[in-house]
Amino acid sequence: MPDADSNAPSNFIKDIIDEDLKNNRNDGRVHTRFPPEPNGYLHIGHAKSICLNFGLASGYKGLCNLRFDDTNPCKEESEFVEAIKRDVQWLGFDWADREYFASDYFEKLCQYAVELIKLGKAYVCGLSAEEIREYRGSLTRPGRESPHRDRPVEENLDLFQRMRDGEFEEGTCLLRAKINMASPNINMRDPAIYRIIKTPHHRTGDKWRIYPMYDFAHCLSDSIEGITHSICTLEFEDHRPLYDWYLDELKVKCRPRQIEFARLNLSHTIMSKRKLMELVQEGLVSGWDDPRMPTLAGLRRRGFTPESIRDFCERIGVAKADSMVDVALLEHCLREDLNKRALRVMAVLRPLRVVIENYPEGKVEEMDAENNPEYPGAGARKVPFSRVVYIELDDFREDPPRNFFRLAPGREVRLKHAYYIKCEKVIKDERTGEVVELRCTYDPESRGGWTNDGRKVKGTSHWVSAGHSLEAEVRLYDHLFTSPNPDAEKAADYKTLLNPNSLNTLASCRVEPSLAGAVPGSHYQFLRQGYFCVDPDSSNGKLVFNRTVSLRDTWGKVEKKKN
Ligand code: ATP
Ligand code: MG
Repeated sequence: MPDADSNAPSNFIKDIIDEDLKNNRNDGRVHTRFPPEPNGYLHIGHAKSICLNFGLASGYKGLCNLRFDDTNPCKEESEFVEAIKRDVQWLGFDWADREYFASDYFEKLCQYAVELIKLGKAYVCGLSAEEIREYRGSLTRPGRESPHRDRPVEENLDLFQRMRDGEFEEGTCLLRAKINMASPNINMRDPAIYRIIKTPHHRTGDKWRIYPMYDFAHCLSDSIEGITHSICTLEFEDHRPLYDWYLDELKVKCRPRQIEFARLNLSHTIMSKRKLMELVQEGLVSGWDDPRMPTLAGLRRRGFTPESIRDFCERIGVAKADSMVDVALLEHCLREDLNKRALRVMAVLRPLRVVIENYPEGKVEEMDAENNPEYPGAGARKVPFSRVVYIELDDFREDPPRNFFRLAPGREVRLKHAYYIKCEKVIKDERTGEVVELRCTYDPESRGGWTNDGRKVKGTSHWVSAGHSLEAEVRLYDHLFTSPNPDAEKAADYKTLLNPNSLNTLASCRVEPSLAGAVPGSHYQFLRQGYFCVDPDSSNGKLVFNRTVSLRDTWGKVEKKKN
Protein backbone atom coordinates (compact mmCIF):
# COMPACT_ATOMS: atom_id res chain seq x y z
CA MET A 1 0.00 0.00 0.00
CA PRO A 2 1.37 3.45 -0.85
CA ASP A 3 2.45 5.20 2.27
CA ALA A 4 1.26 8.59 3.43
CA ASP A 5 4.70 8.43 4.98
CA SER A 6 6.03 10.49 7.79
CA ASN A 7 7.89 12.75 5.34
CA ALA A 8 4.59 13.97 3.93
CA PRO A 9 3.75 17.50 5.05
CA SER A 10 1.61 17.89 8.12
CA ASN A 11 -1.94 19.19 8.03
CA PHE A 12 -4.63 20.12 10.49
CA ILE A 13 -6.09 16.60 10.48
CA LYS A 14 -2.76 15.08 11.44
CA ASP A 15 -2.49 17.67 14.20
CA ILE A 16 -5.83 16.52 15.60
CA ILE A 17 -4.84 12.88 15.39
CA ASP A 18 -1.47 13.59 17.02
CA GLU A 19 -3.27 15.33 19.86
CA ASP A 20 -5.66 12.39 20.26
CA LEU A 21 -2.75 9.97 20.33
CA LYS A 22 -0.99 12.08 22.89
CA ASN A 23 -4.08 11.98 25.10
CA ASN A 24 -4.37 8.26 24.54
CA ARG A 25 -7.86 8.55 23.09
CA ASN A 26 -9.10 5.33 21.45
CA ASP A 27 -6.24 3.39 23.09
CA GLY A 28 -3.83 4.83 20.57
CA ARG A 29 -5.70 3.43 17.58
CA VAL A 30 -6.21 5.24 14.27
CA HIS A 31 -9.01 3.79 12.20
CA THR A 32 -10.55 5.64 9.24
CA ARG A 33 -12.98 4.71 6.50
CA PHE A 34 -13.81 5.72 2.97
CA PRO A 35 -17.62 5.78 2.75
CA PRO A 36 -18.91 6.10 -0.83
CA GLU A 37 -22.58 5.89 -1.65
CA PRO A 38 -22.88 3.39 -4.52
CA ASN A 39 -24.97 5.75 -6.63
CA GLY A 40 -22.40 6.54 -9.32
CA TYR A 41 -18.75 6.14 -10.24
CA LEU A 42 -15.93 7.66 -8.23
CA HIS A 43 -14.34 10.87 -9.46
CA ILE A 44 -11.10 12.73 -8.83
CA GLY A 45 -12.67 14.42 -5.79
CA HIS A 46 -13.22 11.02 -4.23
CA ALA A 47 -9.57 10.26 -4.94
CA LYS A 48 -8.66 13.09 -2.58
CA SER A 49 -10.77 11.50 0.14
CA ILE A 50 -9.41 8.00 -0.59
CA CYS A 51 -5.79 9.15 -0.47
CA LEU A 52 -6.50 11.03 2.72
CA ASN A 53 -8.30 8.23 4.56
CA PHE A 54 -6.08 5.36 3.43
CA GLY A 55 -3.00 7.56 3.62
CA LEU A 56 -3.63 8.58 7.23
CA ALA A 57 -4.30 5.00 8.22
CA SER A 58 -1.09 3.75 6.69
CA GLY A 59 0.93 6.72 7.98
CA TYR A 60 -0.21 5.98 11.54
CA LYS A 61 -0.03 2.20 11.09
CA GLY A 62 -3.78 2.09 11.51
CA LEU A 63 -6.60 0.72 9.38
CA CYS A 64 -8.98 2.08 6.79
CA ASN A 65 -12.30 0.45 5.92
CA LEU A 66 -14.16 0.59 2.67
CA ARG A 67 -17.77 1.15 3.58
CA PHE A 68 -20.64 1.46 1.17
CA ASP A 69 -23.15 3.91 2.50
CA ASP A 70 -26.09 2.21 0.89
CA THR A 71 -29.09 3.58 2.73
CA ASN A 72 -31.10 4.82 -0.25
CA PRO A 73 -32.37 1.91 -2.38
CA CYS A 74 -33.77 4.26 -5.03
CA LYS A 75 -30.37 5.30 -6.34
CA GLU A 76 -27.97 2.50 -5.56
CA GLU A 77 -26.83 -0.39 -7.70
CA SER A 78 -24.38 -3.28 -7.56
CA GLU A 79 -22.74 -2.04 -10.77
CA PHE A 80 -21.56 0.98 -8.80
CA VAL A 81 -20.28 -1.16 -5.93
CA GLU A 82 -18.11 -3.15 -8.34
CA ALA A 83 -16.88 -0.02 -10.13
CA ILE A 84 -15.96 1.65 -6.84
CA LYS A 85 -13.96 -1.36 -5.67
CA ARG A 86 -12.12 -1.52 -8.99
CA ASP A 87 -11.23 2.17 -8.78
CA VAL A 88 -10.02 2.15 -5.17
CA GLN A 89 -7.84 -0.86 -5.95
CA TRP A 90 -6.53 0.75 -9.09
CA LEU A 91 -5.57 3.85 -7.14
CA GLY A 92 -3.37 1.51 -5.12
CA PHE A 93 -5.23 1.06 -1.85
CA ASP A 94 -6.10 -2.12 -0.04
CA TRP A 95 -8.93 -2.50 2.45
CA ALA A 96 -8.03 -6.19 2.99
CA ASP A 97 -11.13 -7.93 4.37
CA ARG A 98 -12.66 -4.73 5.68
CA GLU A 99 -15.36 -4.27 3.09
CA TYR A 100 -18.56 -3.19 4.79
CA PHE A 101 -22.03 -2.03 3.91
CA ALA A 102 -24.29 0.20 5.94
CA SER A 103 -27.02 -2.21 4.85
CA ASP A 104 -25.28 -4.91 6.93
CA TYR A 105 -26.19 -2.84 9.96
CA PHE A 106 -29.88 -2.29 9.17
CA GLU A 107 -31.01 -4.53 12.03
CA LYS A 108 -28.63 -2.90 14.52
CA LEU A 109 -29.58 0.56 13.34
CA CYS A 110 -33.22 -0.29 13.77
CA GLN A 111 -32.49 -1.41 17.33
CA TYR A 112 -30.74 1.88 17.99
CA ALA A 113 -33.85 3.68 16.75
CA VAL A 114 -36.00 1.64 19.12
CA GLU A 115 -33.65 2.55 21.94
CA LEU A 116 -34.05 6.24 21.15
CA ILE A 117 -37.82 5.84 21.23
CA LYS A 118 -37.57 4.14 24.60
CA LEU A 119 -35.43 6.99 25.88
CA GLY A 120 -38.18 9.36 24.84
CA LYS A 121 -35.82 10.83 22.24
CA ALA A 122 -37.63 9.83 19.07
CA TYR A 123 -41.22 9.86 17.86
CA VAL A 124 -43.29 8.89 14.85
CA CYS A 125 -44.56 11.97 13.09
CA GLY A 126 -47.51 11.90 10.72
CA LEU A 127 -47.12 15.35 9.20
CA SER A 128 -46.92 15.47 5.43
CA ALA A 129 -43.63 16.35 3.74
CA GLU A 130 -44.97 19.79 3.02
CA GLU A 131 -46.08 20.34 6.60
CA ILE A 132 -42.74 19.19 7.90
CA ARG A 133 -41.02 21.75 5.71
CA GLU A 134 -43.44 24.41 6.93
CA TYR A 135 -42.95 23.48 10.61
CA ARG A 136 -39.17 23.40 10.25
CA GLY A 137 -38.91 27.19 10.08
CA SER A 138 -35.98 28.91 8.47
CA LEU A 139 -32.62 30.44 9.31
CA THR A 140 -34.41 33.51 10.66
CA ARG A 141 -37.57 31.87 12.01
CA PRO A 142 -37.61 29.09 14.66
CA GLY A 143 -39.49 25.90 13.87
CA ARG A 144 -42.75 24.74 15.41
CA GLU A 145 -43.23 21.50 17.26
CA SER A 146 -45.06 18.67 15.55
CA PRO A 147 -48.46 17.84 17.11
CA HIS A 148 -47.15 14.24 17.38
CA ARG A 149 -44.06 15.15 19.33
CA ASP A 150 -45.40 14.06 22.69
CA ARG A 151 -46.82 10.70 21.72
CA PRO A 152 -46.29 8.17 24.49
CA VAL A 153 -43.35 5.79 24.11
CA GLU A 154 -45.61 2.73 23.75
CA GLU A 155 -47.50 4.32 20.89
CA ASN A 156 -44.26 5.27 19.16
CA LEU A 157 -42.91 1.75 19.52
CA ASP A 158 -46.10 0.35 18.05
CA LEU A 159 -46.19 2.80 15.15
CA PHE A 160 -42.51 2.30 14.37
CA GLN A 161 -42.99 -1.48 14.34
CA ARG A 162 -45.90 -1.03 11.96
CA MET A 163 -43.77 1.23 9.74
CA ARG A 164 -41.23 -1.56 9.69
CA ASP A 165 -43.94 -4.13 8.88
CA GLY A 166 -44.89 -2.15 5.78
CA GLU A 167 -48.33 -1.16 7.05
CA PHE A 168 -48.06 2.46 5.95
CA GLU A 169 -47.57 4.07 2.58
CA GLU A 170 -44.46 6.02 1.64
CA GLY A 171 -44.57 9.60 2.84
CA THR A 172 -47.28 9.06 5.43
CA CYS A 173 -45.01 9.01 8.47
CA LEU A 174 -41.43 9.35 9.68
CA LEU A 175 -39.47 8.51 12.75
CA ARG A 176 -37.94 11.76 14.02
CA ALA A 177 -35.41 12.62 16.68
CA LYS A 178 -36.77 14.77 19.49
CA ILE A 179 -34.16 17.48 19.82
CA ASN A 180 -35.02 21.15 19.58
CA MET A 181 -37.32 22.88 17.08
CA ALA A 182 -35.89 26.25 18.10
CA SER A 183 -32.26 25.33 17.53
CA PRO A 184 -30.37 27.84 15.40
CA ASN A 185 -28.97 24.80 13.59
CA ILE A 186 -31.76 23.52 11.34
CA ASN A 187 -30.21 20.03 11.34
CA MET A 188 -31.14 19.81 15.03
CA ARG A 189 -34.83 20.62 14.51
CA ASP A 190 -36.18 17.13 15.04
CA PRO A 191 -34.48 15.56 11.98
CA ALA A 192 -35.83 12.41 10.36
CA ILE A 193 -34.26 9.12 11.47
CA TYR A 194 -36.24 6.61 9.45
CA ARG A 195 -38.47 6.96 6.42
CA ILE A 196 -40.64 4.53 4.50
CA ILE A 197 -39.33 3.44 1.07
CA LYS A 198 -40.81 0.49 -0.76
CA THR A 199 -38.24 0.20 -3.54
CA PRO A 200 -36.18 -3.02 -3.30
CA HIS A 201 -32.61 -2.60 -2.09
CA HIS A 202 -29.65 -3.84 -4.16
CA ARG A 203 -28.51 -6.09 -1.31
CA THR A 204 -31.40 -6.65 1.08
CA GLY A 205 -34.11 -6.94 -1.59
CA ASP A 206 -37.55 -6.25 -0.10
CA LYS A 207 -36.67 -7.22 3.44
CA TRP A 208 -36.89 -3.60 4.56
CA ARG A 209 -39.60 -1.03 4.04
CA ILE A 210 -37.96 1.58 6.24
CA TYR A 211 -34.53 3.07 5.66
CA PRO A 212 -32.32 5.10 8.00
CA MET A 213 -31.36 8.64 7.06
CA TYR A 214 -27.73 9.38 6.23
CA ASP A 215 -26.92 11.31 9.43
CA PHE A 216 -28.26 8.56 11.65
CA ALA A 217 -26.72 5.67 9.73
CA HIS A 218 -23.36 7.30 9.22
CA CYS A 219 -22.29 8.04 12.78
CA LEU A 220 -23.59 4.71 14.04
CA SER A 221 -21.90 2.75 11.23
CA ASP A 222 -18.68 4.56 12.15
CA SER A 223 -19.17 3.59 15.75
CA ILE A 224 -20.04 -0.04 14.99
CA GLU A 225 -16.82 -0.35 12.96
CA GLY A 226 -14.66 1.20 15.65
CA ILE A 227 -13.76 4.19 13.51
CA THR A 228 -11.70 6.72 15.45
CA HIS A 229 -11.64 9.62 12.97
CA SER A 230 -14.54 10.12 10.61
CA ILE A 231 -13.26 12.42 7.91
CA CYS A 232 -15.77 14.09 5.64
CA THR A 233 -16.23 17.17 3.52
CA LEU A 234 -17.12 20.64 4.79
CA GLU A 235 -20.82 20.53 3.99
CA PHE A 236 -21.18 18.17 6.95
CA GLU A 237 -19.81 20.65 9.43
CA ASP A 238 -23.33 21.75 10.39
CA HIS A 239 -24.29 18.11 10.80
CA ARG A 240 -21.60 17.43 13.37
CA PRO A 241 -23.79 18.39 16.37
CA LEU A 242 -26.31 15.81 15.17
CA TYR A 243 -23.58 13.22 14.60
CA ASP A 244 -22.49 13.77 18.20
CA TRP A 245 -26.05 13.88 19.55
CA TYR A 246 -26.88 10.39 18.31
CA LEU A 247 -23.65 8.95 19.73
CA ASP A 248 -24.15 10.71 23.07
CA GLU A 249 -27.81 9.80 23.51
CA LEU A 250 -27.15 6.17 22.63
CA LYS A 251 -24.07 6.03 24.88
CA VAL A 252 -22.15 3.99 22.33
CA LYS A 253 -18.84 2.44 23.33
CA CYS A 254 -16.81 3.68 20.37
CA ARG A 255 -17.05 7.43 19.97
CA PRO A 256 -15.63 8.50 16.57
CA ARG A 257 -14.67 12.11 15.99
CA GLN A 258 -15.91 13.82 12.85
CA ILE A 259 -13.40 16.08 11.10
CA GLU A 260 -14.30 18.11 8.01
CA PHE A 261 -12.02 19.20 5.17
CA ALA A 262 -12.58 21.15 1.96
CA ARG A 263 -13.68 19.15 -1.04
CA LEU A 264 -11.69 19.23 -4.22
CA ASN A 265 -12.98 21.37 -7.05
CA LEU A 266 -11.15 21.06 -10.34
CA SER A 267 -11.29 23.60 -13.13
CA HIS A 268 -13.13 22.92 -16.42
CA THR A 269 -15.08 19.99 -15.03
CA ILE A 270 -17.83 19.08 -12.59
CA MET A 271 -17.85 16.91 -9.48
CA SER A 272 -21.54 16.51 -8.89
CA LYS A 273 -22.51 12.86 -9.23
CA ARG A 274 -26.00 13.90 -10.22
CA LYS A 275 -24.69 15.93 -13.14
CA LEU A 276 -22.17 13.29 -14.16
CA MET A 277 -25.02 10.79 -14.16
CA GLU A 278 -27.01 13.09 -16.44
CA LEU A 279 -24.15 13.33 -18.92
CA VAL A 280 -24.03 9.53 -19.04
CA GLN A 281 -27.78 8.96 -19.20
CA GLU A 282 -28.35 11.58 -21.87
CA GLY A 283 -25.53 10.23 -24.01
CA LEU A 284 -23.59 13.49 -23.86
CA VAL A 285 -20.52 11.35 -23.15
CA SER A 286 -19.94 7.73 -24.14
CA GLY A 287 -20.23 6.41 -20.57
CA TRP A 288 -18.84 6.71 -17.04
CA ASP A 289 -15.44 5.84 -18.46
CA ASP A 290 -15.49 8.36 -21.29
CA PRO A 291 -11.91 9.68 -21.32
CA ARG A 292 -13.21 13.24 -20.91
CA MET A 293 -14.96 12.44 -17.63
CA PRO A 294 -13.39 13.37 -14.26
CA THR A 295 -14.26 9.87 -13.04
CA LEU A 296 -11.42 7.56 -12.09
CA ALA A 297 -12.65 5.15 -14.78
CA GLY A 298 -12.50 7.97 -17.33
CA LEU A 299 -9.08 9.17 -16.20
CA ARG A 300 -7.75 5.61 -16.32
CA ARG A 301 -9.03 5.11 -19.85
CA ARG A 302 -7.58 8.46 -20.83
CA GLY A 303 -4.19 7.23 -19.60
CA PHE A 304 -3.80 8.81 -16.17
CA THR A 305 -1.69 6.71 -13.83
CA PRO A 306 -2.55 6.01 -10.19
CA GLU A 307 0.88 7.40 -9.24
CA SER A 308 0.12 10.75 -10.86
CA ILE A 309 -3.24 11.03 -9.12
CA ARG A 310 -1.75 10.18 -5.74
CA ASP A 311 1.01 12.71 -6.32
CA PHE A 312 -1.63 15.31 -7.20
CA CYS A 313 -3.64 14.57 -4.06
CA GLU A 314 -0.50 14.90 -1.98
CA ARG A 315 0.40 18.23 -3.55
CA ILE A 316 -3.02 19.85 -3.13
CA GLY A 317 -3.01 18.94 0.55
CA VAL A 318 -5.99 19.33 2.84
CA ALA A 319 -7.42 22.54 4.16
CA LYS A 320 -10.56 23.96 5.71
CA ALA A 321 -11.38 26.45 2.94
CA ASP A 322 -12.98 25.57 -0.37
CA SER A 323 -10.87 26.34 -3.40
CA MET A 324 -10.59 25.58 -7.08
CA VAL A 325 -7.58 23.65 -8.32
CA ASP A 326 -6.36 24.23 -11.86
CA VAL A 327 -6.54 21.04 -13.91
CA ALA A 328 -3.10 22.09 -15.25
CA LEU A 329 -1.62 20.92 -11.92
CA LEU A 330 -3.12 17.45 -12.35
CA GLU A 331 -1.73 17.34 -15.89
CA HIS A 332 1.66 18.49 -14.63
CA CYS A 333 1.78 15.57 -12.16
CA LEU A 334 0.80 13.26 -14.98
CA ARG A 335 3.53 14.50 -17.33
CA GLU A 336 6.15 14.08 -14.63
CA ASP A 337 5.12 10.47 -14.18
CA LEU A 338 4.68 9.62 -17.86
CA ASN A 339 7.98 11.22 -18.74
CA LYS A 340 9.61 8.44 -16.74
CA ARG A 341 7.59 5.51 -17.96
CA ALA A 342 6.32 6.23 -21.48
CA LEU A 343 8.33 4.82 -24.38
CA ARG A 344 8.97 7.28 -27.19
CA VAL A 345 7.63 6.28 -30.57
CA MET A 346 6.80 7.98 -33.84
CA ALA A 347 3.25 8.44 -35.04
CA VAL A 348 1.95 10.72 -37.75
CA LEU A 349 -1.49 12.03 -36.92
CA ARG A 350 -2.25 13.85 -40.19
CA PRO A 351 -0.11 12.07 -42.79
CA LEU A 352 1.51 13.73 -45.80
CA ARG A 353 3.14 11.33 -48.25
CA VAL A 354 6.81 11.95 -49.05
CA VAL A 355 8.63 10.11 -51.84
CA ILE A 356 12.42 10.19 -51.54
CA GLU A 357 13.37 10.03 -55.17
CA ASN A 358 17.05 9.14 -54.82
CA TYR A 359 16.42 6.39 -52.28
CA PRO A 360 16.47 2.98 -53.96
CA GLU A 361 13.12 1.32 -54.43
CA GLY A 362 12.69 -1.78 -52.31
CA LYS A 363 15.53 -0.85 -49.95
CA VAL A 364 14.75 -0.89 -46.22
CA GLU A 365 17.09 0.27 -43.46
CA GLU A 366 16.57 -0.34 -39.79
CA MET A 367 17.35 2.90 -37.97
CA ASP A 368 18.34 2.94 -34.29
CA ALA A 369 15.94 4.82 -32.05
CA GLU A 370 16.21 5.21 -28.27
CA ASN A 371 13.10 4.36 -26.28
CA ASN A 372 13.49 7.08 -23.69
CA PRO A 373 16.38 9.52 -24.00
CA GLU A 374 16.03 10.45 -20.32
CA TYR A 375 16.32 6.86 -19.14
CA PRO A 376 18.96 5.02 -21.19
CA GLY A 377 17.95 1.85 -19.35
CA ALA A 378 14.75 1.88 -21.41
CA GLY A 379 16.84 0.61 -24.33
CA ALA A 380 16.48 1.14 -28.06
CA ARG A 381 14.58 -0.28 -30.98
CA LYS A 382 14.83 -0.42 -34.76
CA VAL A 383 12.58 1.70 -36.93
CA PRO A 384 12.33 0.82 -40.63
CA PHE A 385 13.10 3.52 -43.19
CA SER A 386 12.22 3.31 -46.88
CA ARG A 387 11.67 5.35 -50.03
CA VAL A 388 8.14 6.43 -49.14
CA VAL A 389 7.46 7.94 -45.73
CA TYR A 390 4.72 9.96 -44.08
CA ILE A 391 5.40 13.17 -42.25
CA GLU A 392 3.00 15.41 -40.38
CA LEU A 393 0.97 17.62 -42.70
CA ASP A 394 1.67 20.53 -40.35
CA ASP A 395 5.41 20.01 -40.79
CA PHE A 396 5.26 21.32 -44.34
CA ARG A 397 4.36 24.79 -45.56
CA GLU A 398 4.43 25.77 -49.15
CA ASP A 399 4.77 29.38 -48.13
CA PRO A 400 6.48 29.25 -44.73
CA PRO A 401 6.08 32.10 -42.26
CA ARG A 402 9.25 33.54 -40.71
CA ASN A 403 9.45 31.32 -37.66
CA PHE A 404 8.69 28.10 -39.45
CA PHE A 405 11.76 25.86 -39.57
CA ARG A 406 10.36 22.68 -40.98
CA LEU A 407 9.92 21.52 -44.54
CA ALA A 408 9.17 23.94 -47.39
CA PRO A 409 10.07 23.96 -51.08
CA GLY A 410 13.87 23.90 -51.44
CA ARG A 411 14.41 23.45 -47.67
CA GLU A 412 16.22 20.72 -45.82
CA VAL A 413 15.14 19.12 -42.53
CA ARG A 414 16.16 16.15 -40.42
CA LEU A 415 13.97 13.10 -40.21
CA LYS A 416 14.46 11.98 -36.61
CA HIS A 417 16.81 8.98 -36.29
CA ALA A 418 17.13 8.82 -40.12
CA TYR A 419 18.41 11.28 -42.74
CA TYR A 420 18.33 14.86 -43.94
CA ILE A 421 15.79 15.29 -46.69
CA LYS A 422 15.25 18.23 -49.01
CA CYS A 423 11.96 19.16 -50.61
CA GLU A 424 12.31 19.28 -54.40
CA LYS A 425 8.75 19.34 -55.62
CA VAL A 426 5.20 19.74 -54.37
CA ILE A 427 2.41 17.69 -55.88
CA LYS A 428 -1.12 18.96 -55.60
CA ASP A 429 -4.58 17.69 -56.25
CA GLU A 430 -5.44 19.35 -59.57
CA ARG A 431 -8.99 19.96 -58.60
CA THR A 432 -8.69 21.18 -55.02
CA GLY A 433 -5.16 22.58 -55.04
CA GLU A 434 -4.48 20.62 -51.86
CA VAL A 435 -0.90 19.37 -51.31
CA VAL A 436 -1.03 15.58 -51.58
CA GLU A 437 2.60 14.55 -51.88
CA LEU A 438 6.14 15.85 -51.66
CA ARG A 439 9.04 14.76 -53.80
CA CYS A 440 12.27 14.92 -51.86
CA THR A 441 15.89 13.82 -52.00
CA TYR A 442 17.93 12.55 -49.10
CA ASP A 443 21.60 12.97 -48.21
CA PRO A 444 23.13 9.47 -47.78
CA GLU A 445 25.93 11.07 -45.72
CA SER A 446 23.47 12.09 -43.00
CA ARG A 447 22.56 8.65 -41.70
CA GLY A 448 21.23 8.77 -38.13
CA GLY A 449 20.32 12.42 -38.62
CA TRP A 450 23.83 13.99 -38.55
CA THR A 451 26.52 14.95 -41.06
CA ASN A 452 30.28 15.40 -40.66
CA ASP A 453 30.44 18.58 -42.68
CA GLY A 454 29.00 20.68 -39.86
CA ARG A 455 25.98 21.49 -41.96
CA LYS A 456 23.04 22.36 -39.73
CA VAL A 457 19.34 21.97 -40.29
CA LYS A 458 16.94 23.81 -38.08
CA GLY A 459 13.99 21.48 -38.10
CA THR A 460 13.52 17.86 -37.07
CA SER A 461 10.40 15.98 -38.08
CA HIS A 462 9.01 12.68 -36.96
CA TRP A 463 7.94 10.25 -39.68
CA VAL A 464 6.95 6.66 -40.40
CA SER A 465 7.74 4.41 -43.32
CA ALA A 466 4.60 4.23 -45.47
CA GLY A 467 4.92 0.54 -46.25
CA HIS A 468 5.73 -0.51 -42.69
CA SER A 469 3.52 1.77 -40.66
CA LEU A 470 0.19 0.72 -39.19
CA GLU A 471 -3.08 2.52 -39.40
CA ALA A 472 -4.46 3.85 -36.14
CA GLU A 473 -7.33 5.88 -34.84
CA VAL A 474 -6.31 8.67 -32.51
CA ARG A 475 -8.69 10.52 -30.23
CA LEU A 476 -7.67 13.99 -29.14
CA TYR A 477 -9.35 15.59 -26.16
CA ASP A 478 -9.95 19.02 -24.81
CA HIS A 479 -11.67 20.17 -21.61
CA LEU A 480 -15.18 18.80 -21.21
CA PHE A 481 -16.43 22.30 -20.38
CA THR A 482 -15.50 25.63 -21.88
CA SER A 483 -16.04 27.42 -18.57
CA PRO A 484 -13.35 27.07 -15.90
CA ASN A 485 -16.02 26.65 -13.24
CA PRO A 486 -19.15 25.10 -14.75
CA ASP A 487 -20.45 24.03 -11.33
CA ALA A 488 -20.56 27.62 -10.10
CA GLU A 489 -22.38 29.11 -13.03
CA LYS A 490 -25.69 28.28 -11.50
CA ALA A 491 -27.91 30.42 -13.63
CA ALA A 492 -26.83 28.79 -16.85
CA ASP A 493 -27.71 25.20 -17.56
CA TYR A 494 -24.29 23.59 -17.18
CA LYS A 495 -24.93 21.52 -20.29
CA THR A 496 -24.79 24.67 -22.40
CA LEU A 497 -21.21 25.04 -21.18
CA LEU A 498 -20.12 21.69 -22.64
CA ASN A 499 -17.18 22.12 -25.01
CA PRO A 500 -18.37 21.13 -28.51
CA ASN A 501 -14.75 20.38 -29.47
CA SER A 502 -13.85 18.20 -26.51
CA LEU A 503 -13.34 15.17 -28.77
CA ASN A 504 -11.57 15.17 -32.10
CA THR A 505 -11.21 11.76 -33.72
CA LEU A 506 -8.50 11.26 -36.35
CA ALA A 507 -9.27 8.04 -38.17
CA SER A 508 -6.29 7.63 -40.52
CA CYS A 509 -3.18 8.13 -38.50
CA ARG A 510 -0.02 6.11 -39.16
CA VAL A 511 2.12 4.71 -36.38
CA GLU A 512 5.46 2.92 -36.41
CA PRO A 513 5.33 -0.90 -36.62
CA SER A 514 6.68 -1.44 -33.10
CA LEU A 515 3.16 -0.56 -31.91
CA ALA A 516 1.66 -3.71 -33.44
CA GLY A 517 -0.31 -5.49 -30.74
CA ALA A 518 0.13 -2.66 -28.23
CA VAL A 519 -1.79 -3.61 -25.12
CA PRO A 520 -4.75 -1.49 -23.95
CA GLY A 521 -3.70 0.70 -21.05
CA SER A 522 -0.07 1.00 -22.15
CA HIS A 523 1.52 4.43 -22.38
CA TYR A 524 3.58 6.00 -25.14
CA GLN A 525 4.96 9.34 -25.97
CA PHE A 526 4.33 10.11 -29.62
CA LEU A 527 7.26 12.38 -30.44
CA ARG A 528 6.15 16.01 -30.40
CA GLN A 529 2.47 15.04 -30.09
CA GLY A 530 2.05 14.20 -26.45
CA TYR A 531 1.43 11.19 -24.27
CA PHE A 532 -0.98 8.56 -25.54
CA CYS A 533 -2.60 5.50 -24.11
CA VAL A 534 -3.94 2.46 -25.94
CA ASP A 535 -7.74 2.40 -25.71
CA PRO A 536 -9.66 -0.80 -24.91
CA ASP A 537 -11.46 -0.33 -28.25
CA SER A 538 -8.25 -1.67 -29.84
CA SER A 539 -8.79 -5.24 -30.95
CA ASN A 540 -8.08 -7.61 -33.82
CA GLY A 541 -5.25 -5.54 -35.15
CA LYS A 542 -7.20 -2.30 -34.93
CA LEU A 543 -5.27 0.31 -32.98
CA VAL A 544 -6.98 3.10 -31.06
CA PHE A 545 -5.09 5.65 -28.98
CA ASN A 546 -6.29 8.33 -26.60
CA ARG A 547 -4.20 11.41 -26.22
CA THR A 548 -3.69 11.48 -22.46
CA VAL A 549 -2.10 14.90 -22.39
CA SER A 550 -0.13 17.12 -24.72
CA LEU A 551 3.53 17.92 -24.06
CA ARG A 552 3.07 21.58 -23.26
CA ASP A 553 3.17 22.03 -19.53
CA THR A 554 1.26 25.19 -18.70
CA TRP A 555 1.62 24.56 -14.96
CA GLY A 556 5.40 24.12 -15.12
CA LYS A 557 5.61 27.43 -16.98
CA VAL A 558 3.53 29.29 -14.40
CA GLU A 559 5.67 27.83 -11.59
CA LYS A 560 8.90 28.83 -13.33
CA LYS A 561 7.70 32.39 -13.79
CA LYS A 562 6.85 32.63 -10.09
CA ASN A 563 10.34 31.53 -8.99
P1 ATP B 1 -23.53 12.74 -3.25
O1 ATP B 1 -23.81 14.05 -3.89
O2 ATP B 1 -24.17 11.58 -3.92
O3 ATP B 1 -23.59 12.71 -1.75
P2 ATP B 1 -20.70 12.67 -2.88
O4 ATP B 1 -19.80 13.26 -3.91
O5 ATP B 1 -20.77 13.26 -1.53
O6 ATP B 1 -22.04 12.55 -3.62
P3 ATP B 1 -20.19 10.11 -1.65
O7 ATP B 1 -20.26 8.80 -2.27
O8 ATP B 1 -21.13 10.42 -0.54
O9 ATP B 1 -20.34 11.15 -2.80
O10 ATP B 1 -18.70 10.43 -1.21
C1 ATP B 1 -17.86 9.52 -0.56
C2 ATP B 1 -16.80 10.27 0.18
O11 ATP B 1 -16.03 11.06 -0.73
C3 ATP B 1 -17.39 11.21 1.19
O12 ATP B 1 -16.65 11.11 2.39
C4 ATP B 1 -17.23 12.57 0.58
O13 ATP B 1 -17.09 13.53 1.57
C5 ATP B 1 -15.97 12.39 -0.27
N1 ATP B 1 -15.99 13.31 -1.42
C6 ATP B 1 -16.97 13.43 -2.34
N2 ATP B 1 -16.68 14.42 -3.22
C7 ATP B 1 -15.48 14.93 -2.86
C8 ATP B 1 -14.63 15.97 -3.35
N3 ATP B 1 -14.97 16.68 -4.43
N4 ATP B 1 -13.46 16.21 -2.72
C9 ATP B 1 -13.11 15.49 -1.64
N5 ATP B 1 -13.87 14.50 -1.12
C10 ATP B 1 -15.03 14.21 -1.70
MG1 MG C 1 -22.24 12.28 -0.05
